[in-house]
Amino acid sequence: MPGTRTLAIIKPDAVGSGKAGKIIALLESNGFKVRACRMLRLAQPQAGAFYEVHKERPFFAPLTAFMTSGACMPLLLEKDNAVLALRDAIGATDPKEARDGTVRKLYAESKERNAIHASDSDDNAEREIRFFFSDVDLLSAMDS
Ligand code: GDP
Repeated sequence: MPGTRTLAIIKPDAVGSGKAGKIIALLESNGFKVRACRMLRLAQPQAGAFYEVHKERPFFAPLTAFMTSGACMPLLLEKDNAVLALRDAIGATDPKEARDGTVRKLYAESKERNAIHASDSDDNAEREIRFFFSDVDLLSAMDS
């Protein structure tokens, strides 16, 4: 059965330009519940570890430079079939290709500065949730 939790990160472009509130409102209107939230600035080693899967890609260096350029906001989101539902709500990596009404269509600047990250599988969602949040069982239990 698909999981009910996933991780989003509102990226530095969107936090810096004051779009975080609008993005959270859009996610909530898509039926996601915010179960945990932080604001932080990633250091280079953390960004490299988070995006380790991309370390051989040509865009790894600009991606980690961008992700460390300012504050970001990791969010633990809950909804049925959370991973697929969030991928659908954020839209394609390149905002030019993103469906109308998606986060990236509305708020992304470019393929790189694309406003939001979302986990791409249940296994990665659990890994990425643990990367940013260690007390999520407590937070979920408080709300159930
Ligand atoms: P996502 O799952 O839709 O975020 O896309 P990917 O996992 O393929 O890529 C991770 C992130 O790397 C994207 O969200 C972009 O911020 C960045 N990225 C992907 N492709 C490119 C590219 O061709 N050039 C640059 N500069 N950045 C890219």
